[in-house]
Amino acid sequence: MKLNQEINRRRTFGIISHPDAGKTTLTEKLLLFGGAIQEAGAVKNNKIKKGATSDFMEIERQRGISVATSVLGFEYKNIKINILDTPGHKDFAEDTFRTLTAVDSVIVVIDVAKGVEEQTEKLVEVCRMRKIPMIVFINKLDREGKDAFELLDEIEQKLNLHVTPLSFPIGMGYDFKGIYNTWEKNVNLFTGDPRKDIEETIEISDLKNPDLDQLIGESAAETLREELELTDGVYPEFNREDYVKGDLQPVFFGSALNNFGVRELLDCFVEIAPSPLPKMSDSREVKPTEDEFTGFVFKIHANMDPKHRDRLAFVKIVSGKFERNKPYLHVRHGKKLKFSSPNAFFAEKKQIVDEMFPGDIVGLHDTGNFKIGDTLTQGEELNYRGIPNFSPEHFRYINNADPMKSKQLNKGISQLMDEGVAQLFTLDLNGRKIIGTVGALQYEVIQYRLEHEYGAKCSYENINVHKACWIEPEDEKNDEFKEFKRVKSKYLARDKQNQMVFLADSVFSLQMTQQKYPSIKFHFTSEY
Ligand code: GDP
Repeated sequence: MKLNQEINRRRTFGIISHPDAGKTTLTEKLLLFGGAIQEAGAVKNNKIKKGATSDFMEIERQRGISVATSVLGFEYKNIKINILDTPGHKDFAEDTFRTLTAVDSVIVVIDVAKGVEEQTEKLVEVCRMRKIPMIVFINKLDREGKDAFELLDEIEQKLNLHVTPLSFPIGMGYDFKGIYNTWEKNVNLFTGDPRKDIEETIEISDLKNPDLDQLIGESAAETLREELELTDGVYPEFNREDYVKGDLQPVFFGSALNNFGVRELLDCFVEIAPSPLPKMSDSREVKPTEDEFTGFVFKIHANMDPKHRDRLAFVKIVSGKFERNKPYLHVRHGKKLKFSSPNAFFAEKKQIVDEMFPGDIVGLHDTGNFKIGDTLTQGEELNYRGIPNFSPEHFRYINNADPMKSKQLNKGISQLMDEGVAQLFTLDLNGRKIIGTVGALQYEVIQYRLEHEYGAKCSYENINVHKACWIEPEDEKNDEFKEFKRVKSKYLARDKQNQMVFLADSVFSLQMTQQKYPSIKFHFTSEY
């Protein structure tokens, strides 16, 4: 049946890394293999360069680019691949977490010299908790870096993964000779010519084959044989089931810049990476093969053109076929919506299409109906879970700086929060609004966008908050909870969903409060 075929040939994934490890370069090479772009440099770099005159102006400029790189779709060997962009900048970590709810697998890029870095640790932890299948790509082998075994150890320990190499480097940096591919059982010699997009590989199915000594020299061949024997002894044999369950992570080595080891990665990826997986909703697990369409919003891009208040909501299709002009239920609003110009994403462009399948991302024009996490169905009342808010790191009061424009300000704040730019908390005591963000950059972005898109002006005022905790009382009516509400009233606020939040002003006061009210649960994410 057509739906099944379409599902089986889809691979939707994200590439995660610490900035500068080579995510953009690898993305670009993958697109080259798919024939989606003709030349290197075609994928705009959407990262925020430090030291740019103004970081937030840079963000504005990048926002245009990131619409184009949000979803990069292409075909390779009759497999439809969708790469979902994940910003590497730590101030946008929440965007990345949300995007990870829409991927079926990830590729983790690690710099051979720098090893496991901070952002990699955080992002991999999220993937590990969600049991997302991961492939590791160790990049920049053309440079001097850490010893392969040392790196594999570091990955296991720092990232808490269970790895098995599917390729192995022959030398490194100046002495880098190539890669032995244990998956395909062949040797790929490094020439350092990035223009080659089809690499020549030499079949060496038996490592004892003397051709190997000819190819890479006797001593390198000897070392390789020893090292591969060692990997056989130390690392488990690759097993696809364990990989798909998130219990085993295959590792590849290469150099994205030189387009080396990338084809091997891609070939293995299309073979082993899972096609769209079932997803839990609040009422049941939904299978991609079900006839009825369901999907959820994981990202919103807004107001690229300030003259049109237009937003693009990115919906991951979980089940069934999405059709243009067919009415779908917006579950949170309880109303049906039709979309006359749904967009599909291809590398560098989007295009209106009539139908799309599970795994695909559809871009829907929206005038303010959607917020992140919303579910669309064919009529069933179900909601997809798993797009939690985390406690922000920064908090400030937001004040209206132009009393004539309070309506615009409120609308602007509300829409920016729906987009997931930041979180809004309203104090119980006096109704004052507090904006919480992951990075300090977002305050400038919000101020700028309120002014340019909504014609409103705001100012900020410092507030001493360390963490926001979502409050779950054992019993709303017990005395302990009543006392907590009375004593801590100054620190209590509501998030946008009207959930109760405790704004702790220090680590110490949070600990004291937790000790004093043992029956109350303090959560660091909005979904518990
Ligand atoms: P991102 O921040 O993870 O997207 O990283 P980029 O793809 O922008 O790469 C960061 C820098 O590393 C750029 O200057 C790239 O040219 C460089 N780079 C990427 N891959 C390689 C590689 O395989 N070898 C070397 N030597 N440099 C690389």
